[in-house]
Amino acid sequence: MTTIAFIGLGNMGNPMAANLVKAGHKVQGFDLIAENLNTAREHGVTVMANADAAVKDAEVIITMLPAGKHVISVYEDIAPKAAKGALFIDCSTVDVESARKAHAIAARHNLPSVDAPVSGGTGGAAAGTLTFMAGGSDEAFAKAEPILKPMAGRIVHCGGDGAGQAAKICNNMILGISMIGVAEAFVLAEKLGLSHQALFDVASTSSGQCWSLTTYCPVPGPVPSSPANRDYKPGFAAALMLKDLKLSQEAAQGSGAVTPLGAEAAQLYALYNAQGQGGADFSGIINFLRGAEK
Ligand code: NAD
Repeated sequence: MTTIAFIGLGNMGNPMAANLVKAGHKVQGFDLIAENLNTAREHGVTVMANADAAVKDAEVIITMLPAGKHVISVYEDIAPKAAKGALFIDCSTVDVESARKAHAIAARHNLPSVDAPVSGGTGGAAAGTLTFMAGGSDEAFAKAEPILKPMAGRIVHCGGDGAGQAAKICNNMILGISMIGVAEAFVLAEKLGLSHQALFDVASTSSGQCWSLTTYCPVPGPVPSSPANRDYKPGFAAALMLKDLKLSQEAAQGSGAVTPLGAEAAQLYALYNAQGQGGADFSGIINFLRGAEK
């Protein structure tokens, strides 16, 4: 049994913490929202009055927070108070620069750290099947891996500090672009009188095949489990896709990478979000594309 501080018990953090409790760990949780603390308590998490109390005596400190600024502020606050040798694992999705800053704060206090963002959404968090993309030293990763296991379907060590966040935003840039591509193809097929099923049957076994088509098909019918079959209830919300696309564009600008399709995808998702669709599944972009027809 390991004593784990878990800070940020929202939609993702709460089910993740629950799986750590199920695996036999002592989880000391903290969040700013009372309702989230109540849910955590129901899952067997020991609810603490503040982050300092959660961190006290913890061997591992996990954060699952909205964005980079929250992670930096929490790290600045708790790193000086953490037990000697405590391992910091940040599972939030943040920009690569903030991830590296967070590693540097931990290093200043001689504490090992790993950035470990996830994919798999709230369903994967509840089922304990998240994919973790980890960045950090070999030593820090070796300590983090057994802690992540009860929450994970797959854990990939992507490289040094910030490599997990880099992998996450590159993957989600592919996802955003490919979803728009698949959605555009269905809109064109509709105009050409080609049925959804016929396009699916051809493309899913041809060179147009990709996850956005075969798992998350943006029209109802061909893939019964895709969000299109439940009126685009997420799933993976368009607001989160926009967040990740913005992170990839910041990283592209900072590093000098040329990503014109990533930039266009970010713009299209910004427009879709501006229509009040941030809470819809990101595959609902097909409705925006239909609406954008001339
Ligand atoms: P959420 O808003 O539900 O949870 C974040 C929690 O952090 C909130 O409960 C908030 O009160 C808490 N918080 C903020 N500042 C805090 C502080 N200083 N101290 C303690 N608690 C604090 O968000 P979420 O959906 O759980 O997402 C968390 C992270 O995971 C985000 O970075 C998101 O991009 C990423 N992510 C989410 C999904 C998803 O499907 N929801 C999927 C993959 C990755």
